[in-house]
Amino acid sequence: MISSHTHVKTALITGSTSGIGLAIAAAMSAAGWRIALHGLGARDEVAKAIDEVSARGTAESSPKHFEADLRSAAAARQLIVDVEDAMGHVDLLVNNAGIQFTARVEDFPVSKWDEIIAINLSSVFHVSAAVLPGMQERQHGRIINIASAHGLVASAEKAAYVAAKHGVVGLTKTIALENAKSDITCNAICPGWVKTGLVETQINKYMERNNVSYQDAMAALLSGKEPSERFTTPDQIAAAVLFLASEAGNNITGISLAMDGGWTAQ
Ligand code: NAD
Repeated sequence: MISSHTHVKTALITGSTSGIGLAIAAAMSAAGWRIALHGLGARDEVAKAIDEVSARGTAESSPKHFEADLRSAAAARQLIVDVEDAMGHVDLLVNNAGIQFTARVEDFPVSKWDEIIAINLSSVFHVSAAVLPGMQERQHGRIINIASAHGLVASAEKAAYVAAKHGVVGLTKTIALENAKSDITCNAICPGWVKTGLVETQINKYMERNNVSYQDAMAALLSGKEPSERFTTPDQIAAAVLFLASEAGNNITGISLAMDGGWTAQ
């Protein structure tokens, strides 16, 4: 899957200390990429993520971890400066960091709205804006944004998340168009339900609200949205990232790849 470029390529995956981002980092490492891991988290969780990614790669490709709080525009832009200083240029940027919070619009805390827009949408703008000049100089690069089925359709009680993810899908298309003449592509992946910490919280909330078992809550959330009634796995998303990052993806740009068991086909 590595392209014709001979040097070891570097991938920065935001929010790769857990969940989908960690699976992408591990898969890219196994495919020979050097990994800039990024994310917040307890010291032992971060150490575990570094070990997991190291174990899948070679000695030369040992990952480095960066901490930037993506609620801050300055920190988001500084992240690229820090990664380039430590690892050279970034060939692939995966904008994956994201959070969720559920409440009706009239009850939605302003601080949560601001946080979700900053992390899930504005950081995609800031980190991409900082990485693009280098990619343009080299006439090569890949940006992959982990959006969501909620970038294409809405659900109740997810105002900030839906607004942010729709924004990411639009931003993806603009970056794609601005760079279409070079070998720089920008695409979004739009997963449905993926069983990570972000979704565990929603399963627990559903259990409490409806007084049902964990299994029943999970089944209800899945069948409420996905005709397939099964989760997309983080590894399947990682495989899609590898494909889009490869030479085979060189004329795929501006798309939203739904991985949602038919959710948005309805
Ligand atoms: P996760 O909670 O396991 O991972 C989130 C990552 O974001 C972590 O590494 C965390 O450290 C990082 N992060 C959170 N706040 C941050 C901040 N302020 N600054 C920097 N980093 C921060 O969740 P996940 O499910 O793996 O989510 C990854 C992405 O996938 C998100 O963008 C999410 O919206 C998207 N997504 C998830 C699902 C799903 O069902 N899990 C579905 C569609 C899209």
